Amino acid sequence: MKDGYLDFANSPMGAKLVNALGLPKPMPLERYQQGQPVIQGTVLVGGGDKPQLLEALASVFKSIGAQTLAHARLPQWVAVANKAGLTTGRWGHDGQPGEKVKALVFDATGLDDSTQSDALYWFFHETVRSLLPCGRVIVLGRPPELCASPRKATIQRALEGLVRSLGKELKKGVNAQLVYVAEGAEAHIESTLRFLLSPKSAYVSAQVIRVGVGTGAVVAPADWSLPLAGKKVLVTGASRGIGAAIAAVMARDGAEVICLDVPQAQAPLDEVAKQLGGQAIALDIGAADAPQKLVDAAQAQGGWDVVVHNAGITRDKTIANMKESLWQLVVNVNLSTQERINEALVASGALRPGGRIVCVSSISGIAGNMGQTNYAVSKAGVIGMVQSSAPVFSEKGITINAVAPGFIETQMTAAIPFAIREAGRRMNSMNQGGQPEDVAEAIAWFASPASSAITGNVVRVCGQSLLGA
Ligand code: NAD
Repeated sequence: MKDGYLDFANSPMGAKLVNALGLPKPMPLERYQQGQPVIQGTVLVGGGDKPQLLEALASVFKSIGAQTLAHARLPQWVAVANKAGLTTGRWGHDGQPGEKVKALVFDATGLDDSTQSDALYWFFHETVRSLLPCGRVIVLGRPPELCASPRKATIQRALEGLVRSLGKELKKGVNAQLVYVAEGAEAHIESTLRFLLSPKSAYVSAQVIRVGVGTGAVVAPADWSLPLAGKKVLVTGASRGIGAAIAAVMARDGAEVICLDVPQAQAPLDEVAKQLGGQAIALDIGAADAPQKLVDAAQAQGGWDVVVHNAGITRDKTIANMKESLWQLVVNVNLSTQERINEALVASGALRPGGRIVCVSSISGIAGNMGQTNYAVSKAGVIGMVQSSAPVFSEKGITINAVAPGFIETQMTAAIPFAIREAGRRMNSMNQGGQPEDVAEAIAWFASPASSAITGNVVRVCGQSLLGA
């Protein structure tokens, strides 16, 4: 659905009025266009004390062809970057800021103690005014739960407060993320940095992402613009909305898509599948025999590589007014059925070793929502399923992650009454709703063969919604 206020606030007359009244001013977000480079603009690199990821960062920037600059407090970046074959220089001179940059990347892995936090202050204090619109902030740290000393764990945990506040302060479509990289996972950061630096992460902000030591060897796709080439990807609920966008992004990334929806949606489902050169399966995933039917379908095709559990329903009522059938229906379709399908596909090998499972949760499952006890149970349960299954599935090299969308412009949200819809759209750091493609891009990052070290993560695609923050 079109966001009329966003257009108005960015028109010459509307902008004046919005400024005069102090109203929120949403920035039209840059979104990825096929074929464009990962990042258009320079990356300014900083770090505290003895940063441990500089070589790994230089290797990624070289791979994506990014221009970098060294902050005055990280002069060693110039030597590291030059060694990796990057052209680089120093940012600013004589205490004056340098050129405008598209991204700020700070390696905080060397911070061992809270007394060293001023390294964060100086870097961001001196540089944030030099960020271009729709810029990116990425802070890299070590997972606090794996730190050897309480003091190190403390300063590493403190990074969350910085990133969440920057996400709220920076405006103009800039987002900020924290990436915890486990020791030994340095070679696995590329798929995540590519996603976060690019416009693919337009509506993802203030997220904490964990890159672990991996479920398999580091895989770099032969062609980063077609990371899913040769992969078979099942997308449920693919006849419309977010599911249709997921199928389209997967096909763009080279996948052969298998689009699934209920038999009643056969016509639009066939249309989506036809447009993407994929196949259609008309099936109610809530049916008792659905897992076996999917195993049979996958095995007939030699196995699938990625399963995206996007199909979901709402049946809203306060719990006092809700019939048991509505509770059962929602929890079954949104949660129990996914557990059964995952178990069947993994146990039978129909989801190939090295496979990917990506689930769609919701911020309702994080924050709760009036009239959505059934839905929130199902979506919080999806988070529980992801976190508890990750170590089990990793034995087969299979990852499982979830996205938790906030307010996304679809038929579902177009049906919300005007006042509630407007509140949902504006109550986030981007002051606007997200697009189905924003959810799809996050799912494609999880689905990539290069994301083998990312499992058990839940990433919100919500523009840093105030709900559940
Ligand atoms: P939608 O209603 O437009 O699409 C959902 C699709 O799932 C439909 O095509 C539907 O036919 C299909 N489906 C439902 N039950 C099914 C079943 N039993 N078997 C097979 N297919 C079934 O919804 P959407 O807005 O595109 O949402 C997609 C997912 O994102 C859902 O899981 C939803 O809960 C989640 N989500 C959406 C938003 C949002 O703002 N739109 C926010 C948070 C989470």
